[in-house]
Amino acid sequence: MQYYSKQISDLIGELTTLPGVGSKSAQRLAFYILNMPRDRANSLAKSIIDARENVKFCKECFTLTDRDVCPICQSAKRNKRQIMVVEDTRDLVAYEKVGKYEGVYHVLNGTMNPMQGIGPNDIRIKELFERLQKEEVEEVIIATNSTTEGEATAMYITKLIKPSGIKVTRIASGVPVGGDLECIDEVTLLRALEGRQEL
Ligand code: ZN
Repeated sequence: MQYYSKQISDLIGELTTLPGVGSKSAQRLAFYILNMPRDRANSLAKSIIDARENVKFCKECFTLTDRDVCPICQSAKRNKRQIMVVEDTRDLVAYEKVGKYEGVYHVLNGTMNPMQGIGPNDIRIKELFERLQKEEVEEVIIATNSTTEGEATAMYITKLIKPSGIKVTRIASGVPVGGDLECIDEVTLLRALEGRQEL
């Protein structure tokens, strides 16, 4: 027997697919949405569609942006000889908020995770090497998180870059182990960047 109308069941079903949302939370959210004023519900739906339709990967650094090339890669003020490798766009934003980094980024959009079958070809490592071959780069700063996956990814990238003679550095530990970069305060992030060490 179907307890909810099809529309409500569909909405709950969609919400259940979101990370961290179990069936109870999905029901709570669905009823919250159904009780919203209609224009607010419309605007929520519209921003999901807008974001999904218009946000894409920057052709150079693979951050999420609404342009072909993101404003950081386009800026003449940024030092293209310094590339900071981060896990995702949220990490890039965390460093941008600190406001002291003048280089550019490379966004992996994930980390290697053998347990989940995510290998080097599933994140943007190949694209990083293509950049290093095309552009004159002096330093690659590896700023993946200090989780097991982040460290393994950092080691993998370091091994690949080292023979090319490009300087590879790793942000200082001091960033709490297992802490997502985006959750760390700006002072800690700046310290991690300034205390980076050559690998
Ligand atoms: Zn970019």
